[in-house]
Amino acid sequence: MAKKNKDDYSIADALRVPSGPVRVEDFDPDSAPDYPGEGKADAPAQMADLAPELSDLQERLYAAGRDNPRSRRLLLLLQGLDTSGKGGVIRHAVGMVDPQGIDLTAFKVPTAEERSHHYLWRIRRALPGPGMIGIFDRSHYEDVLVVRVDELAPLDEIPKRFDEINRFEAELADQGVTLIKCFLNVSRDEQKDRLLERLENPEKHWKYNPGDVDVRKKWSAYMDAYSDVLTHCNTEHAPWFVIPADKKWYRNWAVARLMVEHLRAMDLQWPEADFDVDTEIARVQTS
Ligand code: ATP
Repeated sequence: MAKKNKDDYSIADALRVPSGPVRVEDFDPDSAPDYPGEGKADAPAQMADLAPELSDLQERLYAAGRDNPRSRRLLLLLQGLDTSGKGGVIRHAVGMVDPQGIDLTAFKVPTAEERSHHYLWRIRRALPGPGMIGIFDRSHYEDVLVVRVDELAPLDEIPKRFDEINRFEAELADQGVTLIKCFLNVSRDEQKDRLLERLENPEKHWKYNPGDVDVRKKWSAYMDAYSDVLTHCNTEHAPWFVIPADKKWYRNWAVARLMVEHLRAMDLQWPEADFDVDTEIARVQTS
C-alpha cells in the first residue's frame, strides 16, 4: 500500500455514502480505504500519529466553548450490529481525547419514562454542550431500526420518522453541531467468529448475550432497515459514513481520522484573552 501524506487525502470523501439509493451489501466490510500505512502491524503507530492533532483540536473546541454558548459542537454517532465494535471505537479512537471534553451516552431499551415521551426527547437531552464532543452509542436511529425490525411501532411510522429525523438533524446543523454518523459495517461471517470467540474465552463470557443470536437471525431484516436509513437519512448537512469494520484496527483508525478531519474543517481558533496580557504578566511577577 502506498504511503500517504497526512494532508493529501480525505477519509470523509472515501467513506461518505453516495446520495441516492444504496444497499449495505454495496459496501465491503473487509476493505481499508485510504489507510496510510501497511496494515495491522503499523496500526498503533498510525493511531499515535493522529493523537497529538486530535488532542490539540479537541482542546481548541473546548476552549472556544467555555465562554460562548453558541460555539461549535461535535457529535459522533455510532450505529452497528452486535460485535461491530461500537465499544472498541469508543475505547481506542475516542479514548485518545481528554475525557473532560467528552459527553458519552449509550442508548438502551427506552425506560418507562423515556417511552412516555416522543422518541427524540431523550436524544435532545443528551446533546453535547458548547465545546464538547458528544458520543452516541446507538441513537435515534434505533427508532427506525430495531423498532422497524421488531415492529415496535406501526410500520407506516417509519418513513415519517425518516423525514422527522432529517429535519431534526438539519436543526442541529443550524445550531452549530457537526454530526458524524458512522455505520460500523461488520460482515455476517466476522460477527459469527466474534460471537464464538466470546464463548470460547471465559474472560469474554460477560460480553456474550444470548439475545445477540436472536438479533443475528434477523440479519437480512436489519440489512434492509440499515439500507433504507443510509438511503433516506443521508443528507448534505448530516451524511452517513460506512466504516468497514471487519478489521478492527482499520475501523478504529478510520473513526479517529474522521474526527480529526471534521474538527480541522471547523477552523478552530484559540479564544482571545479578555484581559490585558502585559498587565497580567506584571501582576504575576510582582505577586
Ligand atoms: P452494545 O451492543 O451497544 O454495546 P449492549 O448490547 O451491551 O450494547 P444492551 O443494553 O444489550 O447493551 O443494548 C442496547 C439494546 O437497546 C439493543 O438491543 C438496542 O436495540 C436496544 N434499543 C436501543 N434503543 C432502542 C429503542 N429506541 N427502542 C427499542 N430498543 C432499543
